[in-house]
Amino acid sequence: MSTLQRTDPEMAAIIADERTRQVETLELIASENYASAAVLEATGSVFTNKYAEGYPGKRYYAGNQHSDRVESLAIERAQRLFGAEHVNVQPTSGAEANMAAYFATIQPGDTVMGLSLDQGGHLTHGSPVNFSGRLYRFIPYTVDRESETLDMAAIRALARESRPKLIVAGYTAYPRRIDFAAFADIARQNGALLMADMSHIAGLVAGGQHASPVPVSDLVTTTTHKTLRGPRGGMILCKAELAEAVDKAVFPGTQGGPHLHSIAGKAVAFGEALEPAFVDYARQIVENAAALAEALMEGGLRLVSGGTDNHLILADCNSVGISGLKAQNALQGAGVITNKNTIPYDTRSPFVGSGLRLGTPALTSRGMGPAEMRRVASWIVRVLKDPDGEGVRESVREEVAAFARSFPVPGITDVAIAMS
Ligand SMILES: *Cc1c(COP(=O)(O)O)cnc(C)c1O
Repeated sequence: MSTLQRTDPEMAAIIADERTRQVETLELIASENYASAAVLEATGSVFTNKYAEGYPGKRYYAGNQHSDRVESLAIERAQRLFGAEHVNVQPTSGAEANMAAYFATIQPGDTVMGLSLDQGGHLTHGSPVNFSGRLYRFIPYTVDRESETLDMAAIRALARESRPKLIVAGYTAYPRRIDFAAFADIARQNGALLMADMSHIAGLVAGGQHASPVPVSDLVTTTTHKTLRGPRGGMILCKAELAEAVDKAVFPGTQGGPHLHSIAGKAVAFGEALEPAFVDYARQIVENAAALAEALMEGGLRLVSGGTDNHLILADCNSVGISGLKAQNALQGAGVITNKNTIPYDTRSPFVGSGLRLGTPALTSRGMGPAEMRRVASWIVRVLKDPDGEGVRESVREEVAAFARSFPVPGITDVAIAMS
């Protein structure tokens, strides 16, 4: 019996249920992944107990000799992993990293360009309900209506016309490669800074499967828990000229004490990503997404932009006559976990959406390959073609649970407990 089972059986039972859910379902949410047992151990460590406002060697509290080692190790590994001049590992999430990046580079009221949110931009790229949209004047750029991909000539023209101080490149639901070098050129030509938000693709960049934004961007923000497979958290990488502004913007600008337990987990995850095996992992993510995309298209689903270059797929559920919400809910009933999404030029509201976003990072972490992706696609197609069919959903759920149980979830070592 674990300590938690003894002291708080109510919470222990909830966590056990979540372990079972993670083991028995197929996780296709493109932003999710499974942290390793080592990452979970570091994240759950005694560094939870420590206050360390400031930075290594310059703390406001005593007793930080080991905190400094944790944070310095995380920084050093991130620098090696991404070849960054300066790294700040303290942002507690992607949103916090973006807030600090804006604070470091622009003033309230300044003009910023970011991808329109209903086309794959993030909440923190100018949503009116987010601080970003309230503090800054965001000018949205869009994807081309026909190709559903970024039109760099149109983005260049918009930059010339709107003279932004900052251009944001990097998205939550864009299935194609991003030409960061072209963005850098546009920024330079128009006197803007380039901020790449590589939250979704950081693991692909680390594993050499997507061109890195780091050499060409003034600053790069990221989450650490998506393809990078670390603990929940954020990070900022930047050029040396911006180092001081970025550090000040994180602390004391937008945050208090750093989450050292998360930073310990980040350091472990960066260490894992520095291993040669991570290149294979990143390559497999992309191969799996291509296999899943092909099988879904064969099954009759239209994919936004006609396919994928990265870890994610955006399916247009209009091609099977249903909304994204209906698709998400029907699949959830069958043990296949996804999220609804708008598609470019969507005619449905964001709460319903026409799209379904699917990603392969989590399933790839369970050791699945293209053959498994084809099976997953066949279940998805079966459910989406009969979204109201309870019988279909039930039988798919049983098949999915049995299949899923045969692929261990990293970090859930005690499957017996998870299955009880
Ligand atoms: C996920 C994501 C974020 C935000 O990360 P949180 O940790 O959820 O705050 C920011 N930008 C992009 C592009 C993302 O995909």
